[in-house]
Parts: sequence; C-alpha cells; structure tokens
Amino acid sequence: MSIQVINAKNAGFCFGVERAVNQVYEALQGGGPIYTYGPIIHNETVVGDLAAKGVRIVETEEEIAALPVCTLIVRSHGVSKQVMQTIAENANITCIDATCPFVQRIHKIVEEESEKGAKIIIIGNAGHAEVEGTIGWAKDGAFVIGTEEEAQTFSASKDNSYTVVAQTTFHARKFEDFVAILHKKGYNCSVVNTICNATHDRQQEAKEIAARADVMIVIGSENSSNSAKLFEICRKECQRTLFIQSREDLRPGDLEGAENVGITAGASTPRDIIEEVTVYVRNGTKL
Ligand code: SF4
Repeated sequence: MSIQVINAKNAGFCFGVERAVNQVYEALQGGGPIYTYGPIIHNETVVGDLAAKGVRIVETEEEIAALPVCTLIVRSHGVSKQVMQTIAENANITCIDATCPFVQRIHKIVEEESEKGAKIIIIGNAGHAEVEGTIGWAKDGAFVIGTEEEAQTFSASKDNSYTVVAQTTFHARKFEDFVAILHKKGYNCSVVNTICNATHDRQQEAKEIAARADVMIVIGSENSSNSAKLFEICRKECQRTLFIQSREDLRPGDLEGAENVGITAGASTPRDIIEEVTVYVRNGTKL
C-alpha cells in the first residue's frame, strides 16, 4: 500500500526566522567575530553549522557588556529595552537587530500604551524569550497569562485600564478564550491580537491536514514553543501525531497501516529537514 503524503504549505522557516538566519550568514561573509544573543533559532542543525563557522553565543547582559570588537546579532524573538541599551553602551559592538518586525510592533505598542498609563497583559508563555523581551518594553512590567487557570484567577485592580497583546506564536483560539475570560471578569481591556499570520496560517492548515491524516508528523524542536503548540493542535485531530526533530526520530511501526500521512513543521525547521522526512515517508515502506 503506497503512502500519500500531505505536506503543509505553511511549514518551516517563517519570514522572521528566515530573515534572522540569513542575516547571520551574511554577517559571516564580512568576517570578524560574530555573536548572537541566544541561539539564533531553536534548531540544533543550524546552530551547529553556525558554531562550526565560528559564530558564538552570549546569554547574559554581563557577557554583552564585556564583548570585544565584534558583530552581535539580536534574534527574531527580540530583546528588552534594557538589553538594547546594554548593547548600545558597548562601543565595541556593531549590532544587527534581526528582531522580527512583527515583534517590534508589539514592543512599540507595549511601550506607548504603558507610557500612556495602561497596564500591560501579555497572553503567552512566561519565560519564553519573546515574552521576556516584550515585558522589558513596558514601563513598569507586565502581567503574563499562559493558561486558562491563570486567566480565571487573574486578579488586579479594576480601576486600571489594560492593554492586552499576544506572544506572536500563541494559540489563536486560546488567546480569544482568555480575552473573553478577562472581559467577563470585568477588566477594562483594549485588545490587540498580535498573533502573527504565519503562526495562524500554519496552525489552521496543520489542523486541517491532521483531521484527514492517519498519521500526522510535526517536525520541530522540543524547545520551540510554536512547534509544541502545533503538536498539541494536531494531536487533538489525530491521535497518531508524532513530534520529531528529524528523520532519525521515526521508528519502525510509526506509519504502520497509514495511507495518508500529514507533515508540518515549526518555524525553526529548515526546508531540507522537511524534504528529507517527506522523501523518507514516501519511500519508507519498511517503516
Ligand atoms: Fe516573525 Fe511571525 Fe516568524 Fe515570529 S512567527 S518571527 S512574528 S514571522
């Protein structure tokens, strides 16, 4: 029995990630020490390739402050205003800001609205680099709501006005649900849905494919929150959803009896890995 592969069109690098990765490779052409603030993407293959070419990673502001003459690239997730200042204060650094323009837009909203006196609520995952960076653009911090329980138990002064934004890769449906809970609880919220279209389209298409598939494959890193969300969405539609990083993670029996196999991938999965998995599934009669 031959396997039909249904590939998601919206899979792999999104615009912002592709732009950031390209900027690192372009910077390498110019020579000189190159650093990224955190790994440029959640993908070991790409990060390993860059490390082999000499790109180093800094993780803290102290390390940034101590950098010698170099190029420092800020990844698509963006950073806080404070980190941007630390970079600007070290005259050794030529900074390439690869913050995705959609994330920059959130920083601007958060900065301006908090300046005007609104309290900021970010619907997203606390601790995620993008969320941490965004908090750092609010005048006096921000609330983060990542689960329904946190929305239900959210408690703050109802005299304030609130501006609600989303982590760009947050689950679209959950965002709406959490906003509805906040409204129901009587908070005066002005809501800007900042979930990026790339994420929305990717999630929607993955859901549709998973509903038709006997087995659904999500390719992405466990550290990638958008990949984990894709897995969660697909799993609801298709019990046999597999979360893999590369072809090597597929096990004998994974596709047993499957006629239709769907494939999608998170925003930090390179195209060649998707192609490798696709070819393997199509030809992998022994699986
Ligand atoms: Fe930019 Fe959207 Fe990609 Fe995030 S998911 S980096 S916001 S294009």
